[in-house]
Amino acid sequence: MGDTLTCPECGAEIESMDDLETGHEVAEVEPQDDGSFNLFENKDLFLCKGCKRPLGVKKLQ
Ligand SMILES: [Zn+2]
Repeated sequence: MGDTLTCPECGAEIESMDDLETGHEVAEVEPQDDGSFNLFENKDLFLCKGCKRPLGVKKLQ
């Protein structure tokens, strides 16, 4: 299959959804200087199971 991902935080290899947690309510909104912000809230997040680092936002349906 396809892509494997390595967590930059703890080095865990992410090979499948089994290696991830998903979060729906993680408030990771970081205001930027220009007034915009990274929209992590209200989306399905991929979180590293090891360290809970957000690795991305789910786009596949
Ligand atoms: Zn990790």
